[in-house]
Amino acid sequence: MLDLHVHLVGHNDREANRENIRAFLDQASRRGLKEIGFADHDYYWDQMNFPLIREVAKDYPQLDVRIGLEAEYRPNEEERIKHLLEQYPFDFVIGSIHEIAGWAFDISEEEAKHWQKDADELYRGYFEVVTRAASCGLFTTIGHFDLIKIFGVRPRTDILVLADESLTAVAAHGLALEVNTNGRYKPVQEFYPEQRLREEIQRRGIDFTLGSDAHCAEVVGRDIDEAILLLRQSGVRSIVGFENRAKVSYSLD
Ligand SMILES: [Zn+2]
Ligand SMILES: [Zn+2]
Repeated sequence: MLDLHVHLVGHNDREANRENIRAFLDQASRRGLKEIGFADHDYYWDQMNFPLIREVAKDYPQLDVRIGLEAEYRPNEEERIKHLLEQYPFDFVIGSIHEIAGWAFDISEEEAKHWQKDADELYRGYFEVVTRAASCGLFTTIGHFDLIKIFGVRPRTDILVLADESLTAVAAHGLALEVNTNGRYKPVQEFYPEQRLREEIQRRGIDFTLGSDAHCAEVVGRDIDEAILLLRQSGVRSIVGFENRAKVSYSLD
């Protein structure tokens, strides 16, 4: 169907060359995707090559190839992100939070700190930043909405309470949330966001999109079919992709 979160240059361990682009698009074709969206981390800006993606995409007329960005959101860095977004007409922009007040919390070296902290405080601190990201007007999508669960720490307070303001901001600004299947391969071993959040997102009428968060070609489209199945079971009837920052709707019926 669609995979709107793949990293062509990974963690800067691969080049944005023709061969690599073809590997991603070949895998997308094999998985039967209709739409694929490149969204490299903004910190590898100098390694990106959007014109080459557009050129190679011409050999794949059956695929809608979108170009996006996964922007690192930190409060008070809106101007930096805005400047990047002015450089290229992106189809979509994922705002992601991998840092809380300078703490890069999602790397494995930081797991012990998660267990040392008060779980509710951990979640509150994270969702505060998510709310600001959703309200800043720069993004089409919020990435891996409950990433803070990555190591399996669960809050005492109901997740719907902790995420309430963030969801309100997402809805108010018309953003989409992705089912990001990569969480299954992290210690928490489940998709982002969790099922109760998915049901609440559906209840609030927020649009879903899909992403594998692939950092190499083989992972493109991984578990996307299962994510669609879960969404359908939660009553979701359609999901969205993006073209030129406008939503493109896909029926799940
Ligand atoms: Zn991310
Ligand atoms: Zn990513």
